[in-house]
Amino acid sequence: MSTPIIEHWIDGAATPATSDRTNPVYNPATGEVIAEVTLASAGDVRAAVDSARKAFESWSQYSVGKRASVLFRFRELLAANVDELARIVSREHGKVISDAKGEIARGLEVVEFATGIPHLLKGEYSDQAATGVDVYSFRQPLGVVAGITPFNFPVMVPLWMSPIAIATGNAFILKPSERDPSASLFLADLWAQAGLPSGVFTVLQGDKVAVDGLLHHPDVAAVSFVGSTPIARYIHETASAQGKRVQALGGAKNHAVVLADADLDLAADQLTAAAFGAAGERCMAVSVAVVEDSVADSLVDVLATRARAVRVTAGDQADADMGPVITAAAKERIESLITSAADAGAELVVDGRGHQVEGYENGFFVGPTVIDRVTPDLEAYREEIFGPVIDIVRVTGLEEAVGLINANPYGNGTAIFTSSGEAARTFTREVSVGMVGVNVPIPVPVASHSFGGWKQSLFGETHVYGPEGIKFYTRGKVVTQRWPRTRDVASPASFHFSGDATK
Ligand code: NAD
Repeated sequence: MSTPIIEHWIDGAATPATSDRTNPVYNPATGEVIAEVTLASAGDVRAAVDSARKAFESWSQYSVGKRASVLFRFRELLAANVDELARIVSREHGKVISDAKGEIARGLEVVEFATGIPHLLKGEYSDQAATGVDVYSFRQPLGVVAGITPFNFPVMVPLWMSPIAIATGNAFILKPSERDPSASLFLADLWAQAGLPSGVFTVLQGDKVAVDGLLHHPDVAAVSFVGSTPIARYIHETASAQGKRVQALGGAKNHAVVLADADLDLAADQLTAAAFGAAGERCMAVSVAVVEDSVADSLVDVLATRARAVRVTAGDQADADMGPVITAAAKERIESLITSAADAGAELVVDGRGHQVEGYENGFFVGPTVIDRVTPDLEAYREEIFGPVIDIVRVTGLEEAVGLINANPYGNGTAIFTSSGEAARTFTREVSVGMVGVNVPIPVPVASHSFGGWKQSLFGETHVYGPEGIKFYTRGKVVTQRWPRTRDVASPASFHFSGDATK
């Protein structure tokens, strides 16, 4: 049987590439190549943008109510297809089915937020701002906007962007990860079933060629990116130099502080899920536990017990807690970072290297790993491991914990476990991180707020979805109007900038 080819979605239909370049797509649990994804040529990028530009011209003229009705239908279709979509995500990404459903649920929330677009786009009006003069302001779409997304949330991250871009009247081009591209086509089909006109949602499969084509195309007005820090920085610099609006979310090293007065059982449970869920391949995964000395031995004991109990197997198995990592190369990199920590003198309390899963001997599995007595100079601390590994750093108290986090170049998420309101308040006010949890390990904001980190976790000034998403995908216009009857104009136009003309 020949390997299936995953195509683009241009002008409302699956579209083959004009190049013969492809990338293998694996089932990470079995290690098998299950498909080849098309990689766009520069010509494919032009075709995608041309189609989106034409679609924008009519879509931006749809009434906001009609746009909302498409969003409502898309929401219903998405909710009705959660099981199938979760299966597609799990097969190419490796995450367990319940977690894939979780990511769809978080994306669905953004769709629901975007159905409120008639209210969200209401402008402001100043009656009689000057005598006989009214002023109003409103926001308009940008045009063709692009979203470049990572492998780790093939549904949620495209849904952080596209519902809001589309609801606000833009045409959206998705460039998904070439490692798990099938979910993007499933979403495109649901948009079409929901009645979205052809060309308003486009999928351009590809790699750097597709990305660079979008970054340099004059008709792409804005770029949203989510991925690793080096690429986020590149996207931000390149798109900005082209005069485009850009938001580029990067990598992370999320610290969770455990103070001595915390409920240690609760903290250990939450840390286990936050470190090993989705095999640690989450931008908000907790990868460092910063633990107050006096409770560190007890916490590490409980955490090690919990880590050993995590059921690691293929994501579609009923009893799975954690699946494989995305590729053989990712497994090798994660294992070498674990080795580097051991070589540098840290203590491997639970070692997930060489983890074998019966029936899945060729899968890309790494077992849950707990590394104690990690210090900030170690490579395993400095690097974003992006695997099921938690570093334990021991500290004397809150002040040292905050100092450690604030010295870290990333600032995506952080959390504190404590029973002291005062400690929590000090922490939330002083920590240099964009999203903070108090006894909540993964503080991903609900869709009515916006998501974004600080420092090297985000380049650009707007966060994604929520109110900042609306702002990102629109630009403001202010109208100052007067409707004089000829006889009311008593004097000729004033040459003073703020003179009689408006007072
Ligand atoms: P990645 O940076 O390798 O890829 C992201 C996207 O960029 C993909 O679509 C890819 O095709 C494209 N890309 C890769 N190399 C490129 C290049 N040289 N030039 C142009 N485009 C290129 O990231 P990934 O491995 O898919 O995802 C994991 C990373 O994403 C982690 O660092 C994780 O922390 C980060 N992430 C961050 C957030 C956040 O909200 N801050 C969310 C999810 C993932």
